[in-house]
Amino acid sequence: MKKNLTKDLTLFYTSNFPKKFKSISNKKYLVTIGIGGNIGNTKRIFDKLLLCLKKDQRFDLLMTSPLLLNPPFGYLEQNDFLNGIIALKTNLAPNEFLKNMQRLEKRFGRKRSFQDAPRTLDIDIIFFDKKKINTKDLIVPHKDWANRESVIIPLEEMKRINR
Ligand code: ADP
Ligand code: MG
Repeated sequence: MKKNLTKDLTLFYTSNFPKKFKSISNKKYLVTIGIGGNIGNTKRIFDKLLLCLKKDQRFDLLMTSPLLLNPPFGYLEQNDFLNGIIALKTNLAPNEFLKNMQRLEKRFGRKRSFQDAPRTLDIDIIFFDKKKINTKDLIVPHKDWANRESVIIPLEEMKRINR
């Protein structure tokens, strides 16, 4: 099912996005990650990513958002992006968590080329519990999250559905 929000923005509802998983977890930190991609079969990559996270004992999946198809920014000569949100719980510290997400990006074929370049899978940490982090490798909450439709729209939709 899909819903056109504007000329440029479309929300997609699939079997895994949105979805509700656990509502109880005794893990420590509530983490909100943003996922995005615009190369290959992005929906399929997201499904595989979700499976990886689901069977990994270090993560308890809570819920996912619907997926937003939206135009690229920065470098414009590329396909539209598909973006979504995943909420999960973990006991991993922020740096360890980031390393794991980067490993997953790599597993799904991410090549780093230039800023705002097309990618098979981008995983960004939007919130890490209530932490504020400002180090060389990690800025949390994610810089600019509040200005990005690719974050706000799926996040709001996920919250609305689970209210
Ligand atoms: P972008 O997501 O901005 O397009 P990349 O995915 O290539 O760019 O990330 C570049 C670097 O951003 C990573 O090497 C990582 O260390 C850093 N980074 C800083 N804050 C975050 C965050 N909140 N989530 C993910 N990566 C982050
Ligand atoms: Mg990133």
